[in-house]
Amino acid sequence: KSPQIQKKFEEQIEQNNLNDEVKIVKTGCFGFCEAGPIVVIYPEGTFYSHIKVEDVERIVKEHLLEDMVVQDLVFKESIQGDKIIPINEVEFYKKQKRTALRNCGLINPEDINEYIAFDGYKALAKTLTTMTPEDVVAEIKASGLRGRGGGGFPTGMKWDFTAKAEGKEKYVVCNADEGDPGAFMDRSILEGDPNALIEAMIISGYAVGAQWGYVYVRAEYPIAVGRLDLAIKQAREKGLLGSNILGTDFSFDMEIRLGAGAFVCGEETALLNSIEGKRGMPRPRPPFPAVKGLWGKPTLINNVETFANIPQIILHGAEEFIKTGTEKSKGTKVFALGGKINHTGLVEIPMGTTLREIVYEIGGGIPNGKAFKAVQTGGPSGGCISVEHLDTPIDYDNLIALGSMMGSGGMIVMDEDNCMVDIARFFLDFTVDESCGKCTPCREGTKRMLEILERITEGKGKEGDIERLESLAQSIKISSLCGLGQTAPNPILSTLKYFRHEYEAHIQDKK
Ligand code: SF4
Repeated sequence: KSPQIQKKFEEQIEQNNLNDEVKIVKTGCFGFCEAGPIVVIYPEGTFYSHIKVEDVERIVKEHLLEDMVVQDLVFKESIQGDKIIPINEVEFYKKQKRTALRNCGLINPEDINEYIAFDGYKALAKTLTTMTPEDVVAEIKASGLRGRGGGGFPTGMKWDFTAKAEGKEKYVVCNADEGDPGAFMDRSILEGDPNALIEAMIISGYAVGAQWGYVYVRAEYPIAVGRLDLAIKQAREKGLLGSNILGTDFSFDMEIRLGAGAFVCGEETALLNSIEGKRGMPRPRPPFPAVKGLWGKPTLINNVETFANIPQIILHGAEEFIKTGTEKSKGTKVFALGGKINHTGLVEIPMGTTLREIVYEIGGGIPNGKAFKAVQTGGPSGGCISVEHLDTPIDYDNLIALGSMMGSGGMIVMDEDNCMVDIARFFLDFTVDESCGKCTPCREGTKRMLEILERITEGKGKEGDIERLESLAQSIKISSLCGLGQTAPNPILSTLKYFRHEYEAHIQDKK
């Protein structure tokens, strides 16, 4: 609907001779999916939600011509007594800190000049004119930034390994193969702020000694691909990509490679195989990509959200970045908040925010007054966290201690009506489908686990099934070749840990 709404605004602005006073900016995602389509009128930041084409005439007439807020179209939580609060003060946004998403919903992603107007490419200029590659690596190390795509490996260390790896030819790769069910963090950044990724990849190329980058992105993201492609062309026209960037002797360019939708291609060595034109199957590690990656050359791989943090760290310094977060998890994290929650959408929170704050303050609580039961984080590699852990500050280590993980940032909330065994079965079903089949524990073991889970959910569970599940899960975890298999049992193990009684009830056919 948004393109039709935009068209209607353009017609109305024209008809009412407001072209000199009003500028329409088409932006990327605001993050607040539940309230869309959204229209925000600046400078006051009035937040109109659930807008339809037929509402446009009223907004133009009453708000723009008569200077009166259209109360019944304003997002209801913006109305506080006789006051209308701006979009950034509503509960959904108030507790967020938008670093990776800083420009999403604010600038036109199809115009590089808007990115530049919001400090874009300043970090690149600072890098190329005042810093050595070693300075850049040291700054990223000092920031404590950890990979936002799953494991949370320290980004600065990865950059350091790649920079120190022997070889003249090196590559930078962005992993934009976001495949977790319900996750759309990377897609939103690519759609809303593609230049942030380009700027970060150029900086990383300078730091590690690479002159070419690849963005491996899902073909199922056509808007993201289109905007990134346009942004690359505009950056080339401005001399920000190509030879002698900003008049220096540093050269860097990049291209997009499309993934065909295999979940396993999000695993970095499978992704490298896919870029090389081979079947997307993981490679044994070591050697790690930092030493032997694309075509056997040292390769730096980070995901979109990790890269989106880089320009801010360089521009404002690691010291500023580490002011946010917990001792071992610095900065912010983007989550795709979904499931049984009032405010579904994309949220970026400081590390250390509690689950309770996310669910009840940012997320607006559980619909229909139902009770919270659990939250699933980390997608098919993650696990479920129960109500007694609602006050846990979210960071990499706390989530792992609870039997889940950060993963790329999926966060699915469940209420009292959800069956946890069904949830575990859903994720395992996904993993079984997506196993590449290269190693036996994952290819065969996950299938056997799914068979057991299916018979439990159908009321045909046998005595000893829970123990069989646990034993298989442990074997698959320790003997699978890649992260997909090693983490596949997590949804089962975590639900067994906190909701074992539901498995037992199914087996006893009490449901
Ligand atoms: Fe393939 Fe699964 Fe083995 Fe990974 S763990 S290599 S996805 S079969």
